[in-house]
Amino acid sequence: MEARQIVKSFPGGAVALDHVSIAIERNEFFTLLGPSGCGKTTLLRLIAGFEQPTAGEIFLDGQRIEHLPPFRRPINTVFQSYALFPHMTVGQNIAFGLEMQGIPRAEIGRRVTEMLDLVKLGGFEGRKVDQMSGGQQQRVALARALANRPKVLLLDEPLSALDLKLRKEMQIELKRLQTETGITFVFVTHDQEEALTMSDRIAVMSAGRILQVGAPRAIYETPEHRFVADFIGESDFLPALVEAAGAGGVAYRLASGARVEGPVQEFNPGASVSLSTRPERLSLAAADMPGGLAGTIEALVYSGTDTTFHVTLDDGAGRLRVREQNMAGRPFAHARGDRVAVLVPAAAVRAFRDF
Ligand code: ATP
Repeated sequence: MEARQIVKSFPGGAVALDHVSIAIERNEFFTLLGPSGCGKTTLLRLIAGFEQPTAGEIFLDGQRIEHLPPFRRPINTVFQSYALFPHMTVGQNIAFGLEMQGIPRAEIGRRVTEMLDLVKLGGFEGRKVDQMSGGQQQRVALARALANRPKVLLLDEPLSALDLKLRKEMQIELKRLQTETGITFVFVTHDQEEALTMSDRIAVMSAGRILQVGAPRAIYETPEHRFVADFIGESDFLPALVEAAGAGGVAYRLASGARVEGPVQEFNPGASVSLSTRPERLSLAAADMPGGLAGTIEALVYSGTDTTFHVTLDDGAGRLRVREQNMAGRPFAHARGDRVAVLVPAAAVRAFRDF
């Protein structure tokens, strides 16, 4: 599936999509990720055919599809709200679309059973939908959307109504369904963790544009924009100047005068940048440790598996969070008010040019 140079503007409104292009591979679990209002639902609705693009083209298997009404596209959508018929049974809900297409009764029966097994609801065929839990209803909605074997399944925040535990189970379940059926999934979420755990590739969106497309690991490890570093995972930013840049890496100078080294990035000496680091990539050491950034622990936040130390660096260099794993039975090595050094490995540094 491919979208080329899509523009969508609403009458009297802002531009919801500003020249968006994406190419989604067959059998891919592809996620549109971004904050509320960035345009991800609009893009999904254009692919489904519920909206028309102001400009641009949408292709499926090499054919233009923007002129086709939704029911003529081999594409189905699963919504957050399930959109099931509450008075019908599970089996009737799944069969409904197939009956409309005039598929023979015996074939419908076979597909309903197959779909219920696929979503692990075998035996629930005669149950009324309104007698099922939210998680079960979402499985029925998935079974219904998969029953007529679409080429592409669009999923608009389908898990956001579920509680955390169920959501985690359904994340694994969705990934399994996608792998087993071989159908292309286009998944919309504003939840970065959900995107990282399920997707083959992620498109990070902001204000109607796609900022970066890549595998979860590439998006997390090598964000190309400050927005992406900030939105995916946790990042802290320190203002800095590029002191030297070469084949061995880049040397930065913080506001305090302290020096930090980072991996190769293309900068000119003197450039003003934001250095970003991830809390889990840093560590704490004794205050006089050479090469560390000296500072004071302002707060610690215990979260079971680990503890996050909030460190204010000396001489106005900024603030950093450092996350350390908790060891069973071992007390914290550091307390609030302690003087410490933050160790910043070069590989943990990524810089973004300030404009
Ligand atoms: P959310 O996660 O809140 O659903 P989103 O990323 O899916 O957000 P969209 O719903 O695609 O964002 O909206 C993108 C922009 O387009 C927003 O500024 C929104 O107000 C605007 N918009 C969406 N639908 C319409 C509409 N029918 N009429 C006018 N403006 C719209």
